[in-house]
Amino acid sequence: MKILVINAGSSSLKYQLLHMEDETVMASGLVERIGDLTGKKIHKKFPDTDREIRVEKNGEVPDHRAAMRFVVEMIKDPEYGVISTVAEIGAIGHRAVHGGDWFKAPALVDDAVKEIIRKTIPLAPLHNPSGLIGVETAQELIPDVPNVVVFDTVFHQTMPEKAFLYAVPLNLYTELKVRRYGFHGTSHKYVADKAALLMGKKPKETNIITVHLGNGCSMAAVKKGECVDTSMGLTPLAGLMMGTRSGDVDPAVLAHIAEHRGMSMKEIDVLLNKESGLKGICGMNDMRDIHEKADQGDRLALLALDMFCYRIQKYLGAYAVVLGRLDAVAFTAGIGENDAVVRSMILSGLDCLGIELDKERNIGRSKEDRLISTDTSRVQAWVIPANEELQIARETAAVLNP
Ligand code: AMP
Repeated sequence: MKILVINAGSSSLKYQLLHMEDETVMASGLVERIGDLTGKKIHKKFPDTDREIRVEKNGEVPDHRAAMRFVVEMIKDPEYGVISTVAEIGAIGHRAVHGGDWFKAPALVDDAVKEIIRKTIPLAPLHNPSGLIGVETAQELIPDVPNVVVFDTVFHQTMPEKAFLYAVPLNLYTELKVRRYGFHGTSHKYVADKAALLMGKKPKETNIITVHLGNGCSMAAVKKGECVDTSMGLTPLAGLMMGTRSGDVDPAVLAHIAEHRGMSMKEIDVLLNKESGLKGICGMNDMRDIHEKADQGDRLALLALDMFCYRIQKYLGAYAVVLGRLDAVAFTAGIGENDAVVRSMILSGLDCLGIELDKERNIGRSKEDRLISTDTSRVQAWVIPANEELQIARETAAVLNP
């Protein structure tokens, strides 16, 4: 079966067409700056594993419908395409950010499912509308092919009440759905399952802490293959320090800022989401720039780096206790995969957790999954490149062939 994976953001749309027999990527691409005159459209075809043919077609992309039209045209294109008709596509898998607690599993799209996705919009007003637009344009342009929605929150739905409830009046949960949901679920599941496989075990035989460090950062405590706690909350603002997001702060800070700066809650929300985190401390949010400055001895860059790693260590300690027995820690996403210095700052000196970092393995660069702990380390440490598209495709296939 061939599965088309669509990840529609507010101004971008990424796609991959996968052949599920051997889980290979046949084609992939990206449309950026949707709604802009300077839209960017890139399509790649992979005739075999080590060869790619790339085509870039820039120009205005007025809306998501135009972006989806580009996808359909390119995958069928006589020169750059990989199929002759869209009827060859067995299913379309869509990424959606927030499934609230309505969705405990990926969902086969019908009118009722679309109606529930509409209900989730207040929980993720920036993200969920584009997910829904992705589904609707796919239904319009690629008719008669089933659509499945895979939510970022679903993997975390196994958290027990003690982990997902906030200690606030319970009616805020029952009436307003205020609770911890967690995000990056597709990534955490992929990495936890892969780490188990790499250790020669089944997911249900392992306890793993997954550490997703990209533009957004989150961690999950995965016990016997199921998430029991995660660092993000009602929204992706909670938990770790991120590029521009604060992560955890004392909630009273908000009222304090409102009173002393005269800011509205909306302005404070922007402050915590866009002006905080690494950027708030040292003015930069890309980890590569921060390293460049830190290497020159810049105090604030060093401080930001220190704070970033310290917060992750605190969550590691907490989740090791939550899990009881820890088998592995697995890093993924832009920083997690590429930044040996950050991994070393996090994992060095963690004998108390049974983690012994192998310095040589840690600095080795590769796009492959790799062990970075010593052979004698009681707890293994892994780097596992993220592959959310493959996970979405797998989950889409599983919905159709349970
Ligand atoms: P992602 O959201 O997974 O695409 O990750 C994006 C982030 O990864 C960027 O903001 C960078 O800070 C970080 N990143 C990417 N490459 C590197 C690298 N070689 N070293 C350190 N950080 C990196």
